[in-house]
Amino acid sequence: MAALCEVALPVPLRTTFTYRVPDALDELVVPGTRVLVPFRHRAMIGVVLRICAPGASTAPGATAFELKDVAEIVDPLPALPQGLLDLGRWVAEYYLAPVGDTFRVMLPPSVEMRVSREWQINEAGRARLQELRSLTGRSETEVAEMALLELCEVGAKPVAGALMRKLPGGEAAAARLRRRGQIAVQEVAKRRAARTQKIVAWRQDAAELSTRAASARAGQERVRQILAEERGPLPLVQLLKLAAVSRALIDRLARQGNVQVWEEPMAEESLLEADFTPPSNVLSEEQQRAVDEIAGWLDSQKFVAGLLYGVTGSGKTEVYLRAVEATLARGRSALLLVPEIGLTLWAARLCRARFGEGVAILHSGLPDAERAREWWRVRNGEARVVVGTRSAVFAPLENLGLLIVDEEQESSYKQEETPRYNGRDVAVVRAQKEGAVALLASATPSLESFHHARTGKYKLLRLDARIENRPMARVEIVDLREDFRQTHRAGQISERLRSELAARLAAGTQSLVLINRRGYSWFALCRSCGASILCENCSIALTYHKRNDRLLCHYCGFSRRVPKACPKCGSEYVYFVGAGSEQLEERLRELFPQARIARLDRDTARSKRAFEQVLGAFAEGRTDILVGTQMVAKGHDFQRVTLVGVVSADAQLGFPDFRAAERTFQLLTQVAGRAGRGTLAGEVLVETHYPEHYAIQLAAQQDYPSFFEKELHFRRLMHYPPFSALASLLVRDTNLEQAIRWSRQIGAFLQPMDARGVKVLGPAAAPLARIRREYRFQFLLKSPRRSALHGALAACMAFCTEKGIPDRAVLLDVDPASLL
Ligand code: ADP
Ligand code: ZN
Ligand code: ZN
Repeated sequence: MAALCEVALPVPLRTTFTYRVPDALDELVVPGTRVLVPFRHRAMIGVVLRICAPGASTAPGATAFELKDVAEIVDPLPALPQGLLDLGRWVAEYYLAPVGDTFRVMLPPSVEMRVSREWQINEAGRARLQELRSLTGRSETEVAEMALLELCEVGAKPVAGALMRKLPGGEAAAARLRRRGQIAVQEVAKRRAARTQKIVAWRQDAAELSTRAASARAGQERVRQILAEERGPLPLVQLLKLAAVSRALIDRLARQGNVQVWEEPMAEESLLEADFTPPSNVLSEEQQRAVDEIAGWLDSQKFVAGLLYGVTGSGKTEVYLRAVEATLARGRSALLLVPEIGLTLWAARLCRARFGEGVAILHSGLPDAERAREWWRVRNGEARVVVGTRSAVFAPLENLGLLIVDEEQESSYKQEETPRYNGRDVAVVRAQKEGAVALLASATPSLESFHHARTGKYKLLRLDARIENRPMARVEIVDLREDFRQTHRAGQISERLRSELAARLAAGTQSLVLINRRGYSWFALCRSCGASILCENCSIALTYHKRNDRLLCHYCGFSRRVPKACPKCGSEYVYFVGAGSEQLEERLRELFPQARIARLDRDTARSKRAFEQVLGAFAEGRTDILVGTQMVAKGHDFQRVTLVGVVSADAQLGFPDFRAAERTFQLLTQVAGRAGRGTLAGEVLVETHYPEHYAIQLAAQQDYPSFFEKELHFRRLMHYPPFSALASLLVRDTNLEQAIRWSRQIGAFLQPMDARGVKVLGPAAAPLARIRREYRFQFLLKSPRRSALHGALAACMAFCTEKGIPDRAVLLDVDPASLL
C-alpha cells in the first residue's frame, strides 16, 4: 500500500490536503519537498509537510475523498529544511493563518514549471457534435462550437489552450461547452526549458571581409574590432548594442564564415556590481564593546535576543557587518533584515564588498526568476549571508547563527495581508528555535522591544554617541500658529523654513524637506455644504494629483476627473485643502527658481531605477533640495545635508491609533538623524500646530528614554501592548446587512470571553469604515495573558466556520501594527 503525504497548497483555506505517493516517487517525497498535484481541475505546486505511514487513516481528509496521486516532484532537493517547516507551522498557529497561505510566502517562486490548460472531448461532447453535424443551418456560435469539438475529436488527444484560442470564437465556445459538461478541462504542468542565449565569436581564420557598401564595411569593422581585439566572444544582444549594427549584418557575417554563433545557457548576471570598496573603519570603543558582546553570545551556542539601541549616526551598520563577520568566522550563516526594498541593495553592497560572492538578496520586488535564483543559492549553501526585507526571515539558511533586524520598530516588518506576521517577531522565534542570536537594532526602538530589554528578556547594547562624537542635529520647533499671526499666510513653508532654505542655497549645502502625504492636495472640499469628495468604493477622501489633473484614491486606486460642481449639493465652490508632496515641490520651485529641486515619493519612484536615480543625484550633491515622503527618512546616510525641514509633522497625531504618538516620535527622530551626519553640523526645523505635544517636544530633544517612560505609562494605564496581548478582528462584506449580522453573531459569541480574562471591544464601525466597496466592522481583543487571547481567537474562528461565515469575510490580525 502506498504511503500518504500531507500537502500545503496555496489556496486560502484553513486545511491541508492528503495525496498518495506513487511507488516511483516513494523515496523522493519527504517533508519539505515541493510536489505537483492535481487539485480540482488544476495542477498546483504545494509542499509536503508530513509523510503518513501506509494505511494510516489519521491523515486529514484521508477517508472523506478518493485520494489522488502526487504527479511529480518539483526539485531534486526538498525545498524547505525541517527547521523552516516547524517555523511555518508556528507562524500559521500563532497568527491563526491558513497553512497554505503561510507556506506560500515561505517557498521560492515556481519558475521551473509552466502550467497550461488542455481541453478534451467527452461522451456528452460527442453527442453534441453529432447533433451539430445534423443541423442544416448553423449560427455563428454553433459553428465555433462544432469547430472546437472537431478539433478535439480529430487528434483524439487533449487540445492545448493556445490552439483552441486560434479558432474564431474558440474561447467563448469552450466556456459554453464546459458549462454544459460537454468538454473537460484540465491543467497540465510542463518543465520550462533553461533559458539560452546566442554567443558570437570572431573567426581568426576567416576570409577577408568582402562588402562593397561603405556603411556596412564600417559596421563589420566595428564588430571585428570588438570581438577580435577588445572583448572576445559576446552575447549577441550585447554585441548589437556595442557595435550599433543590425542583426542582419551579424547573420551575413555568420553565412560568410567570419563569425561563429552558438547557443549557451543564460549567464547568470549578478545583482550586485563588484567594484565597490567600502571604507574600512577602526571601531569606536562603543562599537567594539557591542561587537565583543555579540561574539560572546555566538560562542554560547544558545539563543540570545539582544537590542542594539544606538542613536542615529552612531555607526550601527558597522556593528552589523562585524557581527556578521564573527558569525561567518564561526562557520555559521547570517541574515540581515532591512525595512525597505530601497535599503537592501545598499546593505547588500556593503556585505558583498566584505564577504564576497556568498551574499544573496531576497525581497518581493525582484522578478520571479531572480528571486528563485537567489533563493536556491541560499538553499544550496552557495550564499551564507542573506540581506532582505520582511519575507527574507524565511530564507532557507542552515546552521543559522545571527539574525539582525535593522530599524526593528518599522511597521513595514508587519505583513498587512494573510499571513499577517511580523518579520521582527518571527526572527526572534526563529533564533529561539535554531539556537541563534537575534539582534534587533534601532535609534528609536519600539516600546515593546525596549520594555523587553529593561525587564531582561532581551540583552541591551547601547551606542550613546555619534561616530567621532559629532553633535546631534539641533532641532527647532516652528509654531505654525505663530507663523500665521505674523505672515497672515497659511502656507506649508513657514517664513523660518524659507529663510533657512535660502541660507543653505547660498552656502551651497543640501536640504531635505519631509512631508507625510503624496499628491497635490489631501482632499477637495465643498464650501457650501462642507462635504469632501469621497471615493466611490471607500469612505476615504480623494487626493488631488495635479500632474494628471485627477482625484485619486490611495486605497483602491479609483480615480475621477475633478468635478466642476459639488456632487452632493451642486455648488461650484469646490476647493482643495492640505498640501501634499507634489504641491510642496511646486511651491519650492516658485520660491527658489534657481535651485535644483527633486521629489521622492511613490509617484516619482515607481521603478527601482527612478528611485536610485533621485537618491543617487542627491547623494552626489547634484540636487540642492530633496522633497520627499517617509521614504527619505529612513536609513540613508547623506553626508552633506545640513538642514532638514519637516512640514506638517503632526498629521499622524490625530489618528485613532494607540501608536500615533510613537510613530510621530519615531519619524521625527529618524528624520532629524538625517542631518549633520558628515563633518558639517545639521539643523532641523519641525513645523507643527501642536508644539506642546510630548511626542514633538521629546523628539525635538531627541530624548528617547523620556519618551519611552511617558508612553509606557499610558500603555500601562490603557492596557495596551506591551502590557497586554492585542488582536484586531475585522468583519467585512459588500452587503451592509450581511456585515452587521455576522458582526452581531461574532459579538454574541465573544461576549462571555470577558469572564476568561479577554476584554472585547466592539463591534464598532472600523476607522476606515468602507474600503473597496466593503463595509467593515471591528473588534479589539485584549488580554494580559496571551494564551487566553489565543484561545478566544481560535474558538472564534471555529465558530465562524460552524456558522458558515466565510474565511474571507473575517480579517484577523494578531499583534496589529496599526488599528486603521
Ligand atoms: P546609524 O545606522 O547608527 O545611524 P551608520 O551606521 O549609518 O549610523 O553610521 C554613520 C556614519 O558613520 C556612516 O557614514 C559610517 O560610514 C560612519 N562610521 C561608522 N563607524 C565608523 C567608524 N568606526 N569610524 C569612522 N566612521 C564610521
Ligand atoms: Zn456641496
Ligand atoms: Zn477607494
